[in-house]
Amino acid sequence: MRLDELQPIIVAGLDYAVIPDYNNKLIQEKNRVGEHNQIQLTLEVCVDIPLLLQAQTLLHELFHAIGAVYMEGRLLDEVDVAALSQGFFQVLRDNPDLVEFLTNPTVEPANDYTEVLASTLGDLSTEEPCS
Ligand SMILES: [Zn+2]
Repeated sequence: MRLDELQPIIVAGLDYAVIPDYNNKLIQEKNRVGEHNQIQLTLEVCVDIPLLLQAQTLLHELFHAIGAVYMEGRLLDEVDVAALSQGFFQVLRDNPDLVEFLTNPTVEPANDYTEVLASTLGDLSTEEPCS
């Protein structure tokens, strides 16, 4: 999935638009690769950087948004945001089953095919051999 394919990201009921920066405006004008705008509800990310860095930057800007909304305007400093976003990025990437559980928890047990297979094989073993 590309950055420009992302739907708006909902933070506390607010739709944050993900804006790809195709012209390196952020780098040239502000020496940044991403920017969160709390008024316009945008998360802007430079696309002239490696894909994983785009993803990490988006998460960084998202942590700014989460902090702005859920911490009632008390903004996190850059060190806090960098530590939380990079740590969270690593945990999410290294634990896909955690992401699956967080986004799609289920109370139903997983299919146990060994039981189905054992009962099928059990039935076959009681059948008369072919002649
Ligand atoms: Zn930042």
